[in-house]
Amino acid sequence: MKKLIILSNSFINKRVRIMDIQTKTQTELIDITDSVRAAVKETGITDGICVISTRHSTGSIIINENESGLKKDILGMFENLVPENKSYAHNQIDNNAHAHLRAVLLGMSETVPVEDGHIVLGTWQRIFFVELDGPRRRSVNIKIVES
Ligand code: ZN
Repeated sequence: MKKLIILSNSFINKRVRIMDIQTKTQTELIDITDSVRAAVKETGITDGICVISTRHSTGSIIINENESGLKKDILGMFENLVPENKSYAHNQIDNNAHAHLRAVLLGMSETVPVEDGHIVLGTWQRIFFVELDGPRRRSVNIKIVES
């Protein structure tokens, strides 16, 4: 597994953390689960929800299994559903329409419950930042809302 490069990892306040990351390739899945778990733990909040979001229009947040074959399959699915080398209107001003369209399909956030101080995920579920037009510097917002 590639090592996650975290450029900064700071709390804006007790319940919002901005994680800046440096992606390494054009399209990749970066497992951020441990950082999200740590952010929730540091709040001391035991019950609520955690919203993981990104402000980028060519990046996404998804939850799925961190298995190397599956990650290749997901990248293959992107190419099958939204091929890079196709004629897109947006490419007249910016050569990354495929990245925007893939981000539209994936969405920009995920929400998970927080119970007993931990995010609730299944055994094989992991949280990923999906780079769709890298390498770039990216940020992920982790917000924990107490209930
Ligand atoms: Zn663009």
